[in-house]
Amino acid sequence: ILMNPRVWEASGHVATFNDPLVEDAVSHKRFRADHLIEAWIAKKDPESTLVVDAMSTEEMAAFIAEKGIKSPDGNALTAPKQFNLMFETSTGVTEKGKNSVYLRPETAQAIFVNFKNVLTTSRKRLPFGIAQIGKAFRNEITPGNFIFRTLEFEQMEIEYFVEAEEWEQHFEAWNKWMEEWAAVIGLKTDHLHRLEVVGDALAHYSKRTVDFEFDFPFGKKELWGLAYRTDFDLTNHAKASGEKLEYTDPADNSRKVVPHVIEPSLGVDRTLLALLVSAYEEEEVAEGDTRVVMRFTPQMAPVQVAILPLMKKGGLPEKAEEVLASLAGIARCDFDVTGSIGKRYRRQDEIGTPLCVTIDYDSLEDNAVTVRHRDSMEQERVAIADIASYVVKKLV
Ligand code: ATP
Repeated sequence: ILMNPRVWEASGHVATFNDPLVEDAVSHKRFRADHLIEAWIAKKDPESTLVVDAMSTEEMAAFIAEKGIKSPDGNALTAPKQFNLMFETSTGVTEKGKNSVYLRPETAQAIFVNFKNVLTTSRKRLPFGIAQIGKAFRNEITPGNFIFRTLEFEQMEIEYFVEAEEWEQHFEAWNKWMEEWAAVIGLKTDHLHRLEVVGDALAHYSKRTVDFEFDFPFGKKELWGLAYRTDFDLTNHAKASGEKLEYTDPADNSRKVVPHVIEPSLGVDRTLLALLVSAYEEEEVAEGDTRVVMRFTPQMAPVQVAILPLMKKGGLPEKAEEVLASLAGIARCDFDVTGSIGKRYRRQDEIGTPLCVTIDYDSLEDNAVTVRHRDSMEQERVAIADIASYVVKKLV
């Protein structure tokens, strides 16, 4: 997380990882100039083809002045200026010996500076990928929209190393896999859109970028990115470190190449938010009776099986403990004894639990339980001896 500033100089982040900042001249509240311009266009000129991401600071200043764009509080705005998003801290124990370091704003660079270590220890052949999941930090000007934009967040990125001339086929493959994966985890695919990033809107390192956007309740916004980063990062880190970051062709030892990179870049928190939006449903189950149900796929549901002894007494909790024990290591379970059974079912619907297993007085006699399904609300009787294999079948 704390990385040497020279990494961020080599990657271009110190010079260019900026957002355009404007301030309300009266309240001194800070806003993203590009967001205010986008909001103005959406309201006043929706047919406009202007690519706001491609505007320079000067162009934004001119646009704001010409259109008379005000802060959301109705006051004048200061001229936009570039604001670096990296959090800075220092290492060293004495005041004099202190060095600036940055908290990483993405996981990608941590992969590039590890490239040689991974290559020499794993001896992979092209194409191959290195994936990393972990915290990233950005001093965002306008955090918010629940967990959509936060100052610290979880990223998962893959740097996929390929031969330069093969980049297009790998780009297309990842482009397809990302959409398929969205469907697998239960994102509403009709809420997912691709945006081909063009011209000056492309990041300094990218030759092609596709943003995957999602219809959030607060608008269509970036969910993930897919970028062709060329050999930009490895080349720059090699230059800055004096270390060769090359790959030797195993079929021809004299052929050394700097691999090119396809990068799927995903935010865990944004994905979770999109999952919550996709799963949420208010369903009328009877006249005037509405239930909230989270329709997570069984794999993504935080709780997969709820074990519900009908009563707190009469040996039912003990019997339920037996059922719970038989599911240990098989499913993520919850155990709930409080409230009427109807209330408990609704509670589990809101959590998105696919299966509820109820233990009643008959269970003591027939060694069977009632399984209630979240989506259909149908119930069936299953022998306790079969419950583990039954759950495995339903959750796969
Ligand atoms: P945005 O335009 O929304 O600021 P970005 O283009 O700066 O996003 P990337 O640098 O491409 O984002 O980061 C890759 C992914 O990391 C994003 O697609 C998103 O899922 C996630 N991400 C980026 N910034 C944040 C943040 N502040 N909070 C939560 N997730 C984030």
